[in-house]
Amino acid sequence: MNDLNKEIQFVKGIGPKRAEKLHKLNIFTLKDLIYYFPRQYEDRSKVKKINQLENEEKVTIKGVITRMDSYSPKKGMNIIRMDMRDDTGYIKLSFFNQEYIKRAFKSGDSIVVFGKVKIENNFKEFVPIEIEHYSSKPQSNCKIEPVYPLTYGLSNKELQGIIRSVLTKEEFKVKEYLPTYILEKYKLCGIDFAVRNIHSPSNKEALKIALYRLVFEEFLILQLGLFYFKNGVNESSGIEFKENEKLNDIIESLPFKLTKAQNRALSEITQDMTSSKVMNRLVQGDVGSGKTVVALLALASAVLNGYQGALMAPTEILASQHYDSFKEILERFNIKSELLVGSLTKKQKEKVLEKVKNQEVDILIGTHSLIEDKVEFKNLGIVITDEQHRFGVRQRGRLSNKGDSPDILVMTATPIPRTLALILYGDLDISIIDELPPGRQPIETIAIEHKRRNEAYENLVRSEVQKGRQVYVVCPLVEESEKIEATAASELVEELKREFFSDLRVGLLHGKMRPAEKDAIMDDFKNKKLDILVSTTVIEVGVNVPNATLMIIENAERFGLAQLHQLRGRVGRGNHKSYCILIYNSKTEVCKERMAIMEETTDGFKISQKDLEIRGPGEFFGTRQHGLPELKVANIFKHIKILKQAQLEARYIIGQDRRLQLKENQKIKEEILYKFSEREEISLN
Ligand code: ADP
Ligand code: MG
Repeated sequence: MNDLNKEIQFVKGIGPKRAEKLHKLNIFTLKDLIYYFPRQYEDRSKVKKINQLENEEKVTIKGVITRMDSYSPKKGMNIIRMDMRDDTGYIKLSFFNQEYIKRAFKSGDSIVVFGKVKIENNFKEFVPIEIEHYSSKPQSNCKIEPVYPLTYGLSNKELQGIIRSVLTKEEFKVKEYLPTYILEKYKLCGIDFAVRNIHSPSNKEALKIALYRLVFEEFLILQLGLFYFKNGVNESSGIEFKENEKLNDIIESLPFKLTKAQNRALSEITQDMTSSKVMNRLVQGDVGSGKTVVALLALASAVLNGYQGALMAPTEILASQHYDSFKEILERFNIKSELLVGSLTKKQKEKVLEKVKNQEVDILIGTHSLIEDKVEFKNLGIVITDEQHRFGVRQRGRLSNKGDSPDILVMTATPIPRTLALILYGDLDISIIDELPPGRQPIETIAIEHKRRNEAYENLVRSEVQKGRQVYVVCPLVEESEKIEATAASELVEELKREFFSDLRVGLLHGKMRPAEKDAIMDDFKNKKLDILVSTTVIEVGVNVPNATLMIIENAERFGLAQLHQLRGRVGRGNHKSYCILIYNSKTEVCKERMAIMEETTDGFKISQKDLEIRGPGEFFGTRQHGLPELKVANIFKHIKILKQAQLEARYIIGQDRRLQLKENQKIKEEILYKFSEREEISLN
């Protein structure tokens, strides 16, 4: 029997070299491999006659080779030319540097070629993508071809070959994990059939059946997992906080007046907190809309009632920024905040933990460190997660387990389409902060081609710095590797110092730095000891330096729109006019379209909608966004009917078997644990 957990380099026929390439696609085990599904299919079953070919169409032709020769126009380049004919005409084919064609085919052979038609000045040519000998066996030519998402150095054909060789091994069979009664109830095919046919569909019908099963399964596992990990929220046993006059004093002491939207969110929160129900609320507000102060007031309100509060942020930079601003506002009201992050020394940590346990600390702010077992509160009344989409589902649940039914507030800048909100937060109330603080001027965004990069540095950066402002320069994620990313960022610093800004103070921030170093750099930037901060995407969330007015993003084409929007949100946080320069290095239509959207709008909702349209929901709702299992084939828009069925079924199953302890549900539980496993959850520190 095959072991799906087997590491990929030990699978026969793969080996370490190919395994390395597969790792880049996040394929580590045999299971990852067979669950690496095609992005789309190319229907190669459409065969046309040569005299009917139209320009640019992708199609299969069948015929006989009438002539073949090869020549070498220059060193290292070899071109094989081929003429073929069917009963309607002739066409020319050329192959570049594909020596094996000469050995595999000869004049007179019957062939089947899939490729693309090119007609220029009445000259018809066929650009071959795949060529095979004609076979009389049905199904062996002209199939529905899977097209996989790929990485550099791995061709579609190679990946297809690897997957097929695994699937065709005699003993290979994927074990079923859905209970039989579900398969029967929804008329689903078995998992083995589904996996085989998603990779090499025997025909369109089989592909449809396979997809249906996999879509259903993805939704079922997603929904069931969410139910399973969710805390049993007890409707009646929440804390009934009392309104406290002192909260108004705190509000009065703020350096600004709350916006209408902030006030509305706050009063919705107060209503929840003063009711006997447990609060379960999401605050959604665009970047810069002022969510932090709303969190602060909710926490303060719990503290004024004699409880403790916790605030969890996804990065140390953000956590310590919150800590600083909380101290500044709350200390004079005798509300004590503490910071708990990974970079504290053991001694410091112990001291903080001790104080938290004895309630000498009122508000604990930190990163994932907050959910560690040793963190104990005396009297936890409210937990808040900032930028909650950065956390895994499990992590969120764990924090609230540290109190006795504390109120829960989650905050996010990422707008979530309604359907997804329903899956994720079926029982969550939503407050929306749809207004920016007054005095903000919209950020002006300009996209420029890479060749105009120098202008941006020479003119724009300098003029902002002369005005006393500060500048962010962001360089992108390189192949998901923080190490390479860090190197790229350091090199950029060197270049900027050498070529443009020998007289300015340029700092560097990246994910490979120790937290203390990061803090020091951020402090320098905040205290205007640096003019320019070159950073990787570690500054993406939450960072707040109102004097920074210009952001330059290098290789902007490599970012998703939502991410560009988040990054851009680091400027335009004060009263000064701010700018964002997107330097792009791609000539594709998609890139131009995306840059244009960023130039046109600063509305996060619109951007997120567009992002979805361009990238498709698969990527948008990937793990990175929400800490959820990736939906590989299921689409929450297209498959809404199946989603509803799966939701109903999940509710039914959980209603019968809250902890999934019944024998028939064991395998599906394993699958849930696998799909929601922590390795999927990102950590940013
Ligand atoms: P986000 O919603 O992105 O988390 P922040 O809470 O970081 O936004 O707020 C962004 C900036 O706006 C901060 O500098 C904050 O002090 C400021 N701010 C928040 N509310 C107001 C307000 N009502 N008036 C003026 N400035 C505000
Ligand atoms: Mg924030």
